[in-house]
Amino acid sequence: MNLFGQFFEAKKRLYPQAVKGRFRRLKCILNSIFLSIYFFLPFIRWERVGSAPDQAILIDLPGSKAYFFAIEIWPQEVYYLAGILIIAAVALFFITSLFGRIWCGYACFQTVWTDIFISFERLFQGDRNDRILLDRRKNFEKFWRKFLTHFCWIITSILTGYAFTCYFHDAIPFTKNIFAGEISVTALGWILGIATSTYIMAGFAREHVCTYMCPYSRFQSAMFDSNSLIISYDEKRGEKRGKWRQGESFENRGHCIDCKQCVVVCPTGIDIRNGLQMECIACGLCIDACDNVMKKIGLPKGLIRYDTLGHLANPIPEKKFKILKPRTFFYATILILVSGLMLRNLILKPTLEISVIPDRNPIFVKLSDGGIRNGYIFKIMNKTHATKIFSLKISSPETAILKLQNGDSQHLEVAPDSVGTFKIFTILPLELVEKNEEGRSLVEFVIADEKESKKVSAVFISR
Ligand code: SF4
Ligand code: SF4
Repeated sequence: MNLFGQFFEAKKRLYPQAVKGRFRRLKCILNSIFLSIYFFLPFIRWERVGSAPDQAILIDLPGSKAYFFAIEIWPQEVYYLAGILIIAAVALFFITSLFGRIWCGYACFQTVWTDIFISFERLFQGDRNDRILLDRRKNFEKFWRKFLTHFCWIITSILTGYAFTCYFHDAIPFTKNIFAGEISVTALGWILGIATSTYIMAGFAREHVCTYMCPYSRFQSAMFDSNSLIISYDEKRGEKRGKWRQGESFENRGHCIDCKQCVVVCPTGIDIRNGLQMECIACGLCIDACDNVMKKIGLPKGLIRYDTLGHLANPIPEKKFKILKPRTFFYATILILVSGLMLRNLILKPTLEISVIPDRNPIFVKLSDGGIRNGYIFKIMNKTHATKIFSLKISSPETAILKLQNGDSQHLEVAPDSVGTFKIFTILPLELVEKNEEGRSLVEFVIADEKESKKVSAVFISR
């Protein structure tokens, strides 16, 4: 027994069987859409002025900026990322309270990539029974079938890592550089790191990620109520289950013929007839499997279906699904508030931002005429795509003197999309210093160009 074997029960390897049906089709369509978005999004172009890359979605780490179509996020605006994360989390809660774990079943990276990897398994090794038999063999056929499967897994993993890295580079020149063999060690490390984790997670860890690693599976039941849609086995209709032969009557017995088709297609290997379980990712494949069985034996579909616990307990048709409930109101309100706040801030985003950093060494300098001098670093952020010329003056106290270390305070030039840094000195004459017994006062600066002006104040230390 290995180290982990002492603590965890070894889980049997799963061989999910292929199934046809409406949820399988829906998964294929959604997989294609999500994969297309993931792989092609970095190649969408978006014309930008100046030196910024013409890429619609880009996290430019060297340039310390993130681009999302017309939106540019500066390092000082990292709170937008916090807002996006809050919106994503609340949207997930909102959807879960309505439709259960549809995120897990149809959109989660782990589910989508595992589905692709299982498709390669089926392509080269056959369906469930063929794969079980193949794993028992030790011959050349097993070797080449496994080899082709792992080869396609590795190629898919590398492409996944490459696409991920494209979100952090200008994708088109980056791709050309890769083909020219000119790729940085960091970029190569990221591609290989993401590729390795994809290969392990989708090829081997699979349902263990959903069961043991993902926190969402642990707390999602807290978001359910009796009106949330979940994958449900209709116990009233299905029990008492039992084997069935062609032509037999269904009187005095349930409709479940215990064929276990719902179990063998399940990608997490559970039996949904035992009730809702943490492992269920709500993919709907057991519904397809059971519907196919019901069709074959001439019974109505829907023995396993999307339903609510409330409706299962009290099956009145019009009460099946309730959208308006306190929980959804609560999540929707937070969603609207946070989204509205983000939108307002994005629309009213200032194009000019200033920060003033006082000198710390020395804090102040006493001049020969008794006046006191403080030094400051002014950082002027020009968030437009044009060069700007700013003027800087002191508005209060009026007799304070402003001096720029280099250049003219009426001509502060800041390049487009960049931060201009200027060293300035402020001098308070002796009479003002004497009036200020505390040794601390406020100096107010005004920075302006032909379109806008901004006031900013800083502390002046005189003793
Ligand atoms: S597929 Fe349907 S009939 Fe077969 S075991 Fe599952 S629930 Fe019963
Ligand atoms: S029980 Fe059904 S819905 Fe849940 S994971 Fe298994 S196949 Fe998917």
